Amino acid sequence: MDNKIDNLIGNFKKRNIRGIFCRDKDEAVAELLRMIPSSASIGMSGSVTLEQVGIIGLLEERGNKVFNQYKSGFTREEVLEVRRQGASADYYLASANAVSQNGELVFFSGYGQRTAGISCAKKAVIICGINKIASDITGALKRAREYATPLNCKRLDWNTPCFKDGVCQESICLFPEYKRMCCQLLIIEAEISADRLTVVLVNENLGF
Ligand code: SF4
Repeated sequence: MDNKIDNLIGNFKKRNIRGIFCRDKDEAVAELLRMIPSSASIGMSGSVTLEQVGIIGLLEERGNKVFNQYKSGFTREEVLEVRRQGASADYYLASANAVSQNGELVFFSGYGQRTAGISCAKKAVIICGINKIASDITGALKRAREYATPLNCKRLDWNTPCFKDGVCQESICLFPEYKRMCCQLLIIEAEISADRLTVVLVNENLGF
């Protein structure tokens, strides 16, 4: 582990956030399967990182009850209901849009189940590639708004100003002309409950 990562894990600790460093995706998967009981229910947010790590399918195969809003056949209302159930599951899995070197975590959300799940699930586990580390909170917010979200809008085909050219135009990104993705902003500065919030830092580039 290099000094930067060591320092970040130490900064998480001061914020009551457990930080775990994994050398690669395989190590992260093994750690997650060890950490999450097979009896636990799981909520999840949409995340390229979770897809790349492949943990959701493994948890489903193992028999965990996963509130997976991406299963085919759901109506729009059913998708929202599954998201709501997932937000209060035993474990909520997500990635962050950015992490500051000081240990703050930044998330944007459209519907809010993601911010709810990360904030309120019995346990929340944030899986993050090292590409998401910014030098400070200003850089983390900039990364989340100006880099990660435009790529997510492109990926999900959302009608936003940043969809067209990757440039955020927050002042005009409003309804009904646009379907804004940045509706809620969650910054975790610290966690009150010991062992509720874990960040699994993976020594790879994952997601946006
Ligand atoms: S505020 Fe709108 S334009 Fe800016 S990043 Fe968010 S979705 Fe894109």
